[in-house]
Amino acid sequence: MKVDLHVHTTASDGLLSPTAIISKANENRINTIAIADHDTIDGIPEGMVAANEKGVNLIPALEISAKHDKQIHMLGYFVDYTNLKFQNFVNKLKNSRDDRNQKMLKKLEKFGFEITIEELKASAEGNIGRPHIADIMVKKGYVSTFKEAFERYIGNDKSCYVSKERPSIKKAIEIIKKYKGVPVLAHPKYTFLRNEDLDTFISYLADVGLEGLEVYYSKHSKEEQEEYLKLAEKYSLIPTAGSDYHRNGDVFGMDLKEDYLDRLLSMNSI
Ligand code: AMP
Ligand code: FE
Ligand code: FE
Ligand code: ZN
Repeated sequence: MKVDLHVHTTASDGLLSPTAIISKANENRINTIAIADHDTIDGIPEGMVAANEKGVNLIPALEISAKHDKQIHMLGYFVDYTNLKFQNFVNKLKNSRDDRNQKMLKKLEKFGFEITIEELKASAEGNIGRPHIADIMVKKGYVSTFKEAFERYIGNDKSCYVSKERPSIKKAIEIIKKYKGVPVLAHPKYTFLRNEDLDTFISYLADVGLEGLEVYYSKHSKEEQEEYLKLAEKYSLIPTAGSDYHRNGDVFGMDLKEDYLDRLLSMNSI
């Protein structure tokens, strides 16, 4: 099955609107897609309208950044996005980004990079993230490429990086479940754990309620994919597939066994 269970839109740091993402899915004959924006569900209502028009099956989702040594991203599928209490929780995540963005701009200023918060806000339609900062740095000639901005300044652990105030992984899983969602660990590659360390970590997550693992991801190698599939089997987690599409040039659309997709779809309780 051609699906894509992890794409971003202008509601966070993707470059296509929810409507445009649905059209793209339709053009690529992807019939099941999940809009999983960073810390926001603001793109879902627009996406739903477009999905109904085009006959695309849209899973309402989000990708929560949770607290961990590195960054852990937790996907939540079928979340109850119209629930006001859930919206409240998500809005708090959004607000914590504002504070963090201010701090990052301060650090960049020390390198002589002048970017105002107003400029940053004007460059984004929804939740602001590091890609928006990187784009401005390129536009102003502070770096020559988007990649360079991350590699030299704003990548994890680089000098201008500031982490966001985050819920714990356990809390992220609990909140997703409380609001009818299915928690799935995004891109296990970026836990930077392998073998026994990864096994221990996944075992912990399964204990606190994880239901799926993004085994198939655009940047996983064959070996990584195999390792993650074994772990999914070991801990009875549903294997999922997502590209993490943000912009033109990124992979869009992934293959997933029908059986795995059915398992995920059967968890839908909304
Ligand atoms: P944020 O949520 O603001 O911390 O930004 C995270 C986003 O930044 C990710 O979803 C990617 O889109 C992007 N990103 C993070 N690290 C890199 C990197 N090394 N190169 C390119 N993009 C990156
Ligand atoms: Fe992103
Ligand atoms: Fe992510
Ligand atoms: Zn993502």
